[in-house]
This record gives sequence, C-alpha cells and structure tokens, in this order.
Amino acid sequence: MLTRRGILLLTGWAGLLCASRAVAQARISVVATFSILGDLVRNVGGDEVEVATLVGANANVHVYSPTPADAKSLAAAKAVFVNGLGLEGWLTRLIAASGTKATVVVCSDGIRPLEREDQQRVGHEVMDPHAWQSVANAKIYVANIRDGLSRAEPSKKDVYYANATSYLSKLDALEKEVSEVIGEISPERRKIITTHAAFGYFADAYGMQFISPEGVSSDAEPSARDVAEIIAQIKKQHIPAVFLENVVDPRLLQEIAGETGAKMGGTLYSDALSEANGPAASYIELMRSNIRQFAKALKS
Ligand code: ZN
Repeated sequence: MLTRRGILLLTGWAGLLCASRAVAQARISVVATFSILGDLVRNVGGDEVEVATLVGANANVHVYSPTPADAKSLAAAKAVFVNGLGLEGWLTRLIAASGTKATVVVCSDGIRPLEREDQQRVGHEVMDPHAWQSVANAKIYVANIRDGLSRAEPSKKDVYYANATSYLSKLDALEKEVSEVIGEISPERRKIITTHAAFGYFADAYGMQFISPEGVSSDAEPSARDVAEIIAQIKKQHIPAVFLENVVDPRLLQEIAGETGAKMGGTLYSDALSEANGPAASYIELMRSNIRQFAKALKS
C-alpha cells in the first residue's frame, strides 16, 4: 500500500519526468456560446480544458452583440461548442471575422428537434432551440462534447471519456428526480404561462403544459394585444401560475398576475445560468431550481 508520502514522492518524480512535455500537456482553450453549454463543457473537459463562454449568466443568447474579446477567444480556441437549431444567429459572422480554425461542435446533433410554437413571429428559428430543457437531450449534448473534445485533443480522450461517464451518471439521477417531482403534481395543474417558448422540450419530456402566448418572445416586446390575449388565456384555461424567466423583463408578468389573480411563481432559468452565488449556477442546479419552483406553485 502506498503511503501519503509515497504518493507525494511519486507525484514529484512524475512532475520532473513530465516537465519537458509541459507545453504539449497544457490545457486547451475552447469556446462555448452560452453559459449552460459552458457548464456542460467544463464538466466533460475538467482540468484539461480552459472554457471561455461568450454569452454569460442571466444574459439573452437569442440577441447578442459579440465583442472584440469574443473574436479573440474564438481565434485562440481549438474547438467551439454551439447549440445549433438556429439559437446563435449571430455566430456565423463572428466565426468568419475571428479567422478561427477551431472545430465547430454542434451539441444538439442527434436530438429529436421540436418545432417552435411561436415560429411565425421568429423567422430565423424554425426549430425550437431550447433542447437542453430535457435532461435526455442534455445527455446527448454531453456525448457530443466528449467526442468533440476527443477530436480536438486526442491525447486526452481517456480523461474526457471518464469525466463524461461520471457526469452522465449525475444526469441520470437528475432525470429521475425531475420525473419524480413533476409526477407529484396532479396532471390538471401542470400548466403555466411563461414569457417565451423555452420549455417545449421540458413539456414534451415530463408531461407539463407551457403556454407562451404568440408574439411574446424574448426578442420582441409584447404589444398591448399580446398582454390582453395572455390574460384571456389564463382566465379561460384556469392556469394556476405565471413565472418569470431570468432573461426576460419581469414587469409584464407581474402586471398579468395582478390582473388575473394567477399565482406569481418564482424565477425560472431557461436560457442562462444564474450568477455563481445564485440558485442556478450549473445546469444541474438550474433544472433543480426550476422543478422546485413548479412544485411550489402548482402542488395544491
Ligand atoms: Zn430562449
């Protein structure tokens, strides 16, 4: 059996032996387009990867103005992890402008895409891009990230595989937890209004109904007619609760809750993580935070 001192001694020797290869062993730089993806990439890349995230916490990935620093991050990256499904409409120009040679990895490849419910109003996104809201899809993202990192840095393949396997088992547990928590809400109360259609995959996977009134998306200001329509829908369909999202102006839903008597739910995290000290600092925490909010508002 190795003593602690023995291990330190061995590590010391290994350090000396590897010193000459330090440059080849350095962490690789990669880019993730938004915070949720950044967290998934960090979990698979671990200590081997330096992840730069373009669209940060609480920010809206649908409408983003890239900065010169983003172009620099891309130019230095060996791989770029994107969601795809039309989410990052601003990315193609940025990639071209940066001159990057990085491999582009589309993390949503292989999921079963859903059509956007509000597609008529959002011309550039025909498919619903929010695929990460189903944990089963997030597991596909993780496999794509693992394979993308392995292509970018084949010498670290074993590490990426080990990290991915360990993280995937956490996602298995999360998936079970989400199903259980939603399963405890009676089916006729599993419906809520949100400001933009970000929960289609969640609805499909876990049997909930999210009503996002037409025209109300995070990249368009709702009109007075939109608001009237939401209010009519809440009353007609007896929707128990309305929720805020961290990427959308909260005033609209506060007004609607006031007018309809629907319960005001807490903040949902749809398209971005919270700050590090917030309730949704990682993808797993994001999903847990959302299901807690649903359970609190909808369990009678
Ligand atoms: Zn969105």
